[in-house]
Amino acid sequence: MTDNELQNLVEKISLDNFDRPFQHHATFNYHLRTTGGRYLLKTHDLEFNPKMATLEDFNKIIKHELVHYHLHLSHQGYQHKDSDFKQLLVRVGGMRYAPDIGGRQSSNYQWLYRCENGHNIIRKRRFQTERYRCGRCQARIKFIGKLSNK
Ligand SMILES: [Zn+2]
Ligand SMILES: [Zn+2]
Repeated sequence: MTDNELQNLVEKISLDNFDRPFQHHATFNYHLRTTGGRYLLKTHDLEFNPKMATLEDFNKIIKHELVHYHLHLSHQGYQHKDSDFKQLLVRVGGMRYAPDIGGRQSSNYQWLYRCENGHNIIRKRRFQTERYRCGRCQARIKFIGKLSNK
């Protein structure tokens, strides 16, 4: 989907579901990781995560951001905690939270462990050292610390 197609889609969803036009810009932001989209308070533009554009629920993500957009522009409660927000979100069938596409798993950290014989073991998830042995020499393992992925 191009930025242009995205713009057209957002405009259509706005008219169909909110009876109000979307008169700002919708673009893809390739830096978004786990968020589906965001509403920019200053410019009133919307940004969407291109990784989510292929999801069946992408329309619901657009609706969610449009709820922020229309409520903010009409000076109503546009934040997640506001009842205006909750009610309108339900009415248009918007998504409550961005779906988890596993972006968190490729986080910035890995964990380093080392066995008594100096073999390094690197894992994305932490584990309890008492319960495992080194895969190469069966020696005991101890936790060393956090590694940065970058
Ligand atoms: Zn939101
Ligand atoms: Zn070992």
